[in-house]
Amino acid sequence: MRAWARLMREHTDELAIIVTSEQGKPLAEARDEIAYGAGFLDWFAAEGERAYGETIPSHKRDSLLQVRMQPIGITAAVTPWNFPVAMITRKAGAALAAGCPIIVKPAPETPLSALALARLAEQAGCPPGVFQVLVGDPVELSKPLLDDTRIRALSFTGSTEVGRLLLRGAAESVKKVSLELGGHAPFLVFDDVDIDKAVRGAMAAKFATSGQDCLAANRIYVQRGIYSAFVETFAAAMTRLKVGHGLEPATDIGPMTKLSVAQKCRSQIDDATKKGARAICAKHDPSLGLNFVPPTLLHDVTDDMLIAREETFGPVAALIPFDSEDEVITRANNNEMGLAGYVYTDSLRRAMRLSERLECGMVAVNTPSFTGPPIPFGGWKQSGLGREGSRHGLSEYMELKYVCIGDLAA
Ligand code: NAD
Repeated sequence: MRAWARLMREHTDELAIIVTSEQGKPLAEARDEIAYGAGFLDWFAAEGERAYGETIPSHKRDSLLQVRMQPIGITAAVTPWNFPVAMITRKAGAALAAGCPIIVKPAPETPLSALALARLAEQAGCPPGVFQVLVGDPVELSKPLLDDTRIRALSFTGSTEVGRLLLRGAAESVKKVSLELGGHAPFLVFDDVDIDKAVRGAMAAKFATSGQDCLAANRIYVQRGIYSAFVETFAAAMTRLKVGHGLEPATDIGPMTKLSVAQKCRSQIDDATKKGARAICAKHDPSLGLNFVPPTLLHDVTDDMLIAREETFGPVAALIPFDSEDEVITRANNNEMGLAGYVYTDSLRRAMRLSERLECGMVAVNTPSFTGPPIPFGGWKQSGLGREGSRHGLSEYMELKYVCIGDLAA
């Protein structure tokens, strides 16, 4: 695994060009993804050595009670196109460290990143068959993976809709399933903060990966006292973003990988403006094509608009004014998604209260950046099941075995 991570780093330039060419993200972000992705292999290579069991103080005379951690068996993964490298190594790192072979079915939009990873795994000395990649039709390829009783665990990252389908399909053979699904992150900004710092945070949390990120700040709630100043500062920063081809060095926002994502952005903008939101849009060259969506700020968004109710997955920012802490936490939690939430405040008490009350798997206070190999990544409610990264991620690929050794006094 360490050799594989080293080869990924040595081939950062080639891998990043593949990622940008098939996914669309700016090259600098693609390079960051290679480093992020390699990090999971290194981290899990170390964590695999610490898959400790337990000894239980016995309730039975003359006996020793142990809990051992053992590999679950052959595993499968279905991965998305927005992080075509890191979402594979986050799963494969944990599976391999647990001692499990893994068969990966990448998104049809980004097969080459997955195949390049397989080539590097082979060069690193991964035994044949231990890391496999299947490219092709998602439904056709996932059916045998779901039906085969030799496959004991399935890990999926993607939409809640497909996650539900796979969960149902895995039920027949009672596989262990972990799901990383959609997000709809609330980003709460209180009027005690430094506006420039909060705007920088909101911009990073909204526009990374051109907005195609399940952690993206989908609903930016700003307290009324600083709302107008926040909108103005955000608009000024956003209109400086440059839309273009990911391989051009000045590009901040690339194309949407799938046309359907761009269409969803446009329909959310139409819906919001029809219902009274106001739109501010960055400069955009329409000749770039229909997959490109210019960064857009919608302000005075209300809870009945589509963008306040469902994930965007593109560079459209929804700014929503609020008055009190109780009001905003109720509105933030009033959704079936619960992946991540952000809080910007200078009050430690408020940060502690809100980090407790937010109904989501991950909370970031005063920072837009919080992921990486050591953290348990995952969601509450319909945002997922199980965790990736961290020691909890390793346990998704392991079974517990309880062993009772009796009659020790004989
Ligand atoms: P999607 O669910 O359509 O695709 C994800 C994967 O599922 C791909 O490999 C695809 O080929 C496969 N797939 C699609 N239909 C399938 C079917 N019927 N049977 C078997 N496999 C199938 O995802 P999308 O809509 O293209 O991607 C965006 C979504 O993914 C967003 O909702 C986003 O939040 C989510 N996502 C979540 C995370 C996370 O970590 N929680 C990360 C990235 C993306």
